[in-house]
Amino acid sequence: MNALLCGDRSAAAQQRSDSIVMKFGGTSVEDASAIRRVSQLVKERLRQKPVVVVSALAKVTDQLFAAGLAAAEGDREVVLEAVQRLRQRHEQIAAELLERENYDRLRNDLEGEFQALDEALCSIAAEGQFSPRAQDNLLGRGEALSSRIVQAVLWKDGLDAVLLDAKQCIITDAAHTRATPLWDETNQRLKAALLPLLESGSIPVLGGFVGSTRDGVPTTLGRGGSDFSAAIVGAALRATRIEIWTDVDGVMTTDPVICSDARRVPRLSFDEAAELAYFGAKVLHPATLLPAMRHDIPVWVLNSRNHGCEGTEIRAYSGGEGRVKAITVKRRIAVVDVEPVRWLAPELLREVCDVFERHQQTLDLLSASPGGLSLLVTSTGALPAIAAELKGMANLRWENHKALVCLVGEKIRRQPEIASQVFRAVSDVETRMICQGASERSLSFLVDEAHADESVRRLHHLLFPSSEVPTATFQSRAMCQAGDVWS
Ligand code: ADP
Ligand code: ASP
Ligand code: MG
Repeated sequence: MNALLCGDRSAAAQQRSDSIVMKFGGTSVEDASAIRRVSQLVKERLRQKPVVVVSALAKVTDQLFAAGLAAAEGDREVVLEAVQRLRQRHEQIAAELLERENYDRLRNDLEGEFQALDEALCSIAAEGQFSPRAQDNLLGRGEALSSRIVQAVLWKDGLDAVLLDAKQCIITDAAHTRATPLWDETNQRLKAALLPLLESGSIPVLGGFVGSTRDGVPTTLGRGGSDFSAAIVGAALRATRIEIWTDVDGVMTTDPVICSDARRVPRLSFDEAAELAYFGAKVLHPATLLPAMRHDIPVWVLNSRNHGCEGTEIRAYSGGEGRVKAITVKRRIAVVDVEPVRWLAPELLREVCDVFERHQQTLDLLSASPGGLSLLVTSTGALPAIAAELKGMANLRWENHKALVCLVGEKIRRQPEIASQVFRAVSDVETRMICQGASERSLSFLVDEAHADESVRRLHHLLFPSSEVPTATFQSRAMCQAGDVWS
C-alpha cells in the first residue's frame, strides 16, 4: 500500500487545493470560551482557506440519545426536561457570545432547530421505538445547533463564514447509525458547494457526523464520526491538511484518562493511526484515516486549549520503526467460542463467517485451532439467533465484559523481545486471544474488562518510563548484528 501511495503522491499533490479542514470536537465547542478559541484559531489560519467542521457541544449527542430512549418509553417528563436543558444551554452560550442583533437572528434559527427536535421526539414517542433511522434523525441535530452557533460567532468576529447543510453534501448508504459515503456523489456535491465559497474567500462551516441518503433521509457516520466528516471533506477538496482539534495535546502514548503521565506521540504513520483508532483510541474515529491515506493528506491532531503545542502529525511514513508508539484498549467486547460438533472444516469456517455477516455482526478478531474458533464481537444481541442457525454444526458459548489491549508501532512484530517483556509484565493477569503477527504493527491480547486499566498502566510504565523519551525502544542485539535496517 505504501508503494501505491508513493506512486499516487505526485498526482495527488498536483490536484491538491490550497485549503485546509479544521474539525473541532465537542469539548472544543463546549462553552462560550471554547467557541471564542475556535474563532481565534480559524482567524489565525485565514490565509490557508479553512473549511470548518464542528461536532455537537460536548455531551449533547449522549443527551439526545437519552431523550430518544425516554421518548420511546413514553417518559414525557424526562424528554421535556432534556429538551429544556438543551435549549437553555445553547441559548445561553449564544447570548454570551453575540450582541443583540446577531443574537436575535441566531435565536430564531435555533428555535427552528428546536421545533424540528421536538417533532423528531414526538414521532419516536408515537412509534414507541427508537429505531436506527429515528436515532439518526435525532442525534444529528446536535451538530445542526452547534454549527449555527459557530457560524454566527465567526461572522460576528468579522469572518465571512457561510453555513452549509452537511446532509445536502455528504450522501451515504442507508446503513443507519454507521453509514458510509457514496464517494462519487459526495465528492461532487462537496466540491460544487465548497470550491466557489473558498474561491470567493468565504469560510464554509459544516456540522460533522451527519449525512443523508439519496432520498434525503438523515443518516450518521457512527459515534465520533465528525473526524470522518473532516476527512471526507478533506479528501473531496484534496486539502493540504486535515486538522482534528480536540482536548488533548495530540495522539498520546495511551489514553491520559488511564495514565496521567501519557505523552504526546509526535508522529504516526497512517497505518499506525488507523490501527490505534480501530483498537479503541477514541481520539480518532477509525474511518478517518482511509480518505486521508488515499490522497496522501497529512492529518494533524491538535489541542484547542493549547494551540502552541505541535500536536501529532500523521503521514504515510512516521519513522521510529520497531518501537511501540502507543497502547490502546477496546472495551465492551464479548468473546465467542465456536466448538464444532465434529471438526473444524473449511466449510464450517465459511458458514460461521456468513452467518455473522447475515446478522450484521462485525468480527473484530478471530483465532482458529483444530478444536474450534474464538471470535470477538462488540455486541451480543444477535448471538442467540446465530447459535440457533449454527445448531447441528457447532455450539456457541460467549462471555461478556472483556477488553482488548493493543500495542501499536510499525514493525513491532520484528521485535520478539516486546512480546516477552509485555507478557512478563502482565503474567499474573489472565490473558486470551493473544494476537501477534497478523499485522506488522500491532500486538493485542484479551483480558477481563476489570483488569484492562491495570494492564495498560503496567505496560505504559514498562514501555514509556517517566524519565525517558516518549517512544520506547527494545534493543535487539540479534537484529542489529544481523544488519537488519531499523532505527
Ligand atoms: P472530541 O470531542 O474532540 O472528538 P474525543 O473525546 O472524541 O474528542 O477524543 C479525545 C479523547 O480521546 C481524549 O480526551 C482522551 O481521553 C481519549 N483518548 C483515548 N486514547 C487516546 C490516545 N491514545 N491519545 C489521545 N487521546 C486518547
Ligand atoms: N457528536 C457526535 C458524537 O458525539 C459526533 C462527534 O462528536 O464526532 O458521537
Ligand atoms: Mg471524537
